[in-house]
Amino acid sequence: LKSGRLGWIWIVILVLIVAVLGVVEVRMAFFPSSGGTAARLQPDNVLLIGWDGTRRARLKQLLAEGRLPNLAALIAKGRLVDILVTTGATATKPGWAEILTGYSPRNTRVWNNRDHYDAVPAGYTVLERLKQHFGPDFKTIFISGKWQNLGTRGIHKVWPTGPRTRWYDEKLWNKREIEDQEILTMPAEPYHLTWKHVDVFVNGLRKSDNVGPRVLENIHRFKDGPFMLFVEFEEPDEQGHVYGEGSPQYSDELVHDDAWLGRIEEQLKADGIADRTTIYMVSDHGFGADENEHHKEPETFFATNDPRVTTTTGDRKDVTPTIYRHYGVDLGSFQPPLEGKPLIP
Ligand SMILES: [Zn+2]
Repeated sequence: LKSGRLGWIWIVILVLIVAVLGVVEVRMAFFPSSGGTAARLQPDNVLLIGWDGTRRARLKQLLAEGRLPNLAALIAKGRLVDILVTTGATATKPGWAEILTGYSPRNTRVWNNRDHYDAVPAGYTVLERLKQHFGPDFKTIFISGKWQNLGTRGIHKVWPTGPRTRWYDEKLWNKREIEDQEILTMPAEPYHLTWKHVDVFVNGLRKSDNVGPRVLENIHRFKDGPFMLFVEFEEPDEQGHVYGEGSPQYSDELVHDDAWLGRIEEQLKADGIADRTTIYMVSDHGFGADENEHHKEPETFFATNDPRVTTTTGDRKDVTPTIYRHYGVDLGSFQPPLEGKPLIP
């Protein structure tokens, strides 16, 4: 009888040890690779969804009014974080470069939209580094509405003081109008060295109703995972520039972005991967209250369904380090050292 009880105690101790080692090790112990259909241990999926030019105060107002139900549901599972831009211009090019690397402009080389930028150095983006870390089976997808600010061109000419819709493309200028204007030759757009090293790269899709379907399509295509998908919706930035931040058009586009968030979540459910996909939402800069510009507008947001995010404030550079922490990637393993800090403790 005594030795029987001793046996049980040993079993209990063993069970406790196994439990402490965690679910992953349990799986490895009980489902060792068994030929071609081995139960593979794989990282989960990350969706990084960007709403370009979102003023934090307007977002919070719309949340309070119940007009962003999908974002509200996401935050209920995780967290809404106040983001303050502390390095780099509050503009699209430097914004996404910081978000996608965890570095400020001195490392991204992207200082502003029109006359001070170069390609982000090869291998610096979170997409490239996750593929490097996990190997070729980890799929990376980059989809954007905007074109030249998330562009891939090499050497090209710009007209820095030209009109908003044409300054970046010499094919859109006539000789007479640029006669006495400053024309610069730029070395490269931010993703000139990045795009070939991600599995899917598509930019310049413009409005959300072109962008959203590409997101759904790629989620379905890569549903067997693992993947990281980055998508930039160009709204509400575009409406802000045309109609002003206080316009119904600006708010309506945030509502429209929220509807796309809902459709994206529906696609994840339909493909059976909602429970192993973490969503991070972010914007590149704020927007002037009731204005048509965002020259010094550092207040924007980060939102997630990741319950491990417990902080309430952060920086634009913190997004990529947060994704590394999510995946358990050693934050100290990169050169130059990351400048942002993870929002997961
Ligand atoms: Zn803008």
